[in-house]
Amino acid sequence: MCGIVGYTGRKTAAPIIVNGLKKLEYRGYDSFGIATLGSGIEVCKHAGRISDNARSALHLNGTTGIGHTRWATHGAPNDANAHPHTDCKNRVAIVHNGIIENYADLKRQLIARGHRFLSETDTEVIAHLIEESYTGSLLSAVQQAVPVLQGSFALLVISPEEQGIIAARNASPLVIGMGDGEYFAASDMTPVVEYTERTIFLEDGDIASLSPDKLVIYHGKEPVNRPVELVDWSVEDTKKGGFAHYMLKEIYEQPQAFYNAIRALDTENLPGCAQKPASVAIVACGSSYHAGLIFKYLLEETCGIPARIEFASEFKYFPPPVSCLVVGITQSGETADTLTALKRAKSHNCPTIAITNVLGSTVSRIADSTIFMRAGPEISVAATKSFVAQLGVLMQMINLLSGEQFTKVLAHAHRAIEEVLLQDLSCAVLTCKQARSIFYVGRGPFYPVALEGALKMKEISYIHAEGYAAGELKHGPFALLSSETPVIAICMPDDTYGVMVANIKEIKARGAPVIALGIEGDSELADIVDIFIPLKRTHRFVQVLTSLVVLQLLAYYTAVALDRDVDKPRNLAKSVTIE
Ligand code: GLU
Repeated sequence: MCGIVGYTGRKTAAPIIVNGLKKLEYRGYDSFGIATLGSGIEVCKHAGRISDNARSALHLNGTTGIGHTRWATHGAPNDANAHPHTDCKNRVAIVHNGIIENYADLKRQLIARGHRFLSETDTEVIAHLIEESYTGSLLSAVQQAVPVLQGSFALLVISPEEQGIIAARNASPLVIGMGDGEYFAASDMTPVVEYTERTIFLEDGDIASLSPDKLVIYHGKEPVNRPVELVDWSVEDTKKGGFAHYMLKEIYEQPQAFYNAIRALDTENLPGCAQKPASVAIVACGSSYHAGLIFKYLLEETCGIPARIEFASEFKYFPPPVSCLVVGITQSGETADTLTALKRAKSHNCPTIAITNVLGSTVSRIADSTIFMRAGPEISVAATKSFVAQLGVLMQMINLLSGEQFTKVLAHAHRAIEEVLLQDLSCAVLTCKQARSIFYVGRGPFYPVALEGALKMKEISYIHAEGYAAGELKHGPFALLSSETPVIAICMPDDTYGVMVANIKEIKARGAPVIALGIEGDSELADIVDIFIPLKRTHRFVQVLTSLVVLQLLAYYTAVALDRDVDKPRNLAKSVTIE
């Protein structure tokens, strides 16, 4: 996946595009490029990040331009493969988010017809296809090229012969921002909110023609009207707001995110298929999978409704024989594995619900109903507030299914999250930053909390970390325990407390330091572990949230202590739009 942004208006385009690309860097950051309509097509593109090389792009002239920040799928992240790509005659420049599945065939045919290729990308075929059908109207050239393409694309195309941008979408997100005498096109609204709140979400098959004074949208070749939506994100929502990293800012936004998320769902808008489900299947990936697993434990223990959870990437190839409600969870709404799993579920006639953070995202076009978690933009690659917001929606769903037994608990949960943000974790950070491996253990809903804590630690600190159901550690991983492998145990007051304490003693006997999260005043636990992190005694749902926030902070401060690139960890991208 990658981020694209385009501008056409009366201002100099390059600074606006540079600014927009910086906001989209979370979508990919291995190379970047900009093309503007100055004297002909002016291009600047490089391997590396826009935030480190912005200056090189700012000299480009012109009031129309397009830009790209890349997460390579075809061809190494080098200067030649960076977008924009141009045709043989430099008549068109394009940026592309997605994958052209039939590019190899198309490339062969284009080379046979005499085209010269300068990159290894799948994208470049699009520039040459448009070149072939360009006989005076860029719009009609794009309309002719697009049906030939198989795969996913959000495309922006410019030509020095016309002052404007042609935008096309199929299965990759693309929004249009409508200003006064200026238009924007981008992968999401983060680069747009600074200039306008009026947005149109393009649909698959749409091709839009943007010039400083006019926007016309076609579905294929037919003009169509798409609704203008007002985006309520502020510019501040997309900035760091004084925090050292987006991740810390987003961790601190969690009380608000949870508060908003539980209000995203009530008896009125709970989809019909979710009102009395006999059973539920959840499909998700990464952190969203962990949120789904917490949901499974809590739903089964409070409502007695059987739930199963599947990795979306497995479900789509090996769908279990389900005929129940299928819930897909994806922060970005673009996670390819989850989209395909939901399509698969629909083909088995299962009712489907999506939970996502991005209005207008692809998942909302696939699922029968969509619940927006309203966490606001999440820039840091490591999910934090979107995870807590997912839990907000899922806990609220349990609350509604249980006859609203937990309304009060949920209404006050944000305060408990707020309190835990100030927890002193310095001793635990010191132990973790020297670790070779870290194991996280918990039972019941605290097992997925352990999984999520380990995921956060490995993705931003690069320390190997694994989460286990506490009873499983002795079935193998014990062989790895030593003084260099701290174990983080989540030990809450429930039926498993006694067996958790026994597990902790077994771990200690094998020489591993133990950091325990427990209830304040629990001296039995505090006495046997190396570092005790006390949490207030609250409702079980809230305890899940507070222990999770502590583990997010522990991962964050450990990564900072190790001087890691917290917001943009190596090899990762925020939303994974490939399978
Ligand atoms: N497939 C294109 C490339 O590899 C675009 C990738 C993307 O969407 O990030 O350059």
